[in-house]
Amino acid sequence: MSADPYLQERRAPETHLPRMEALASLPLFFKLAGARALVAGGGDGAAWKAELLAAAGAQVDVYAADAGAAMRELGDTVTLYARAWTPADLEGAALAIGDCADAGEARAFRAAAKAAGAPVNVIDKPDYCDFQFGAIVNRSPLVVGISTDGAAPVFGQALRARIETLLPHGFARWARAAHDWRPLVQALGLDFRARRSAWELFTRRALDAPERAPDARDREALVDAARGAAVAPGPGSVALVGAGPGDPELLTLKAVRLLQSADVVLYDDLVSPHVVEMARREAERVAVGKRGYKPSCTQQEITGMLVELAQAGKRVVRLKGGDPMIFGRAGEEIAALRQAGVRVEIVPGVTAASGAAAALQVSLTHRDHARRLQLITAHARDGKLPADLDWRALCDPAATSIVYMGVKTLPALVTRLIAEGIDPQTPAAVVERATWPDERQFFAPLADLPAMIAAAAPKGPCLVVIGAVLGEYAMTADARASVKNQGSETHVLEQKIHL
Ligand code: SAH
Repeated sequence: MSADPYLQERRAPETHLPRMEALASLPLFFKLAGARALVAGGGDGAAWKAELLAAAGAQVDVYAADAGAAMRELGDTVTLYARAWTPADLEGAALAIGDCADAGEARAFRAAAKAAGAPVNVIDKPDYCDFQFGAIVNRSPLVVGISTDGAAPVFGQALRARIETLLPHGFARWARAAHDWRPLVQALGLDFRARRSAWELFTRRALDAPERAPDARDREALVDAARGAAVAPGPGSVALVGAGPGDPELLTLKAVRLLQSADVVLYDDLVSPHVVEMARREAERVAVGKRGYKPSCTQQEITGMLVELAQAGKRVVRLKGGDPMIFGRAGEEIAALRQAGVRVEIVPGVTAASGAAAALQVSLTHRDHARRLQLITAHARDGKLPADLDWRALCDPAATSIVYMGVKTLPALVTRLIAEGIDPQTPAAVVERATWPDERQFFAPLADLPAMIAAAAPKGPCLVVIGAVLGEYAMTADARASVKNQGSETHVLEQKIHL
């Protein structure tokens, strides 16, 4: 064969089947229930290993002349012999773990374990080990092990944390159900393909509703599917999911999970395209924005669509800006879905007020300034300022008021508040497109805010914030403004404050 690597590479596909790439170590899942595992040494590392072995069902014998506190705390989950190990102790051990003081002891321990036929691990001495412990994500009977072959345990731990967040705890129940129901499917004596399609159906249900406990209906569907009976499509569902104010990183883990298993995503036009992008690639995406230049849907049409899709067995995600339960018309959608017998789940999101507070770095309930936080809409059904707002509450100097949908009626709101007795110098702000890269912030005493906003003519969604808590901002805004302007060119406007 040619020594030219280029030619070798070109020939490879014809001459070789694809091969597994080199594995640093082979992940195996060791059955320990009822087996005897031996731990030599009583330090913290040994205690942790002993606990792990006991959790895996082993009968753990610990030999330690001076067991530490962590080991003693294991109590009777292990059997503690208050003496050093001897080679005879290793006989009959399924696994041997040594917490060895030096290379000499490690060598002796390894030799004794090998003589007894037990795979051996010497803590922190990889040269004497047959196997290593990985980081674990435990959804027993579903278990994920992570190894970096000792190269970077901290990296492994960080990955473990990530996988933890990806695997709902409810998977444990589904995995247990699969374990319990497997004999039923086997007993049918069917071929591989029938069994496989049944387990595919089961898996889809588990992925769709990990937090739901699997029940008798799931078991029947599994058996029916294995028999080849036509199984009705899984019940469709609708999740009203909060997409947060803009920044996609403010999504909840649950929102991401649902997006990634959705068949259809219906989204409002306040929702960031980056959030919509997180949906499963095959998911159908439907813009149902109620404003803007695109043809828009009425609330009734949206509700009708949700019901229809769910009844056709689809997993529907209804993505709403901010939190679905705050000025999101979720009430109407929930009522219609319930009436149609459709399963509905709500996933909260970060509401625009929280996004704006974070952007302003202002505590909305700062204990020196506010006793009350009120979220109001300044947009009545007829598009005007609602007549029935609680003016006394809004004029309360110890309140923070956040106004949704409040730009159009801002002049009317301010005029009315001043007439009702609010201090015209009350600090006020408008945050446009909070948490988006092109967010803008405007500050003025309440009386001056309408003119400032009229001049700025914001086009994006805006929140109006009114209250003494914004006074805190005055103390730090200059410093922060300079930091911000260095950090991002997109913060196009930082108004100086005259509070
Ligand atoms: N359910 C949403 C609110 C929907 S009502 C939530 O919980 O945030 C629409 C109004 O929300 C807009 O008119 C505006 O007042 C406000 N809004 C939504 N996103 C915003 C953002 N990123 N910045 C400022 N205001 C926002």
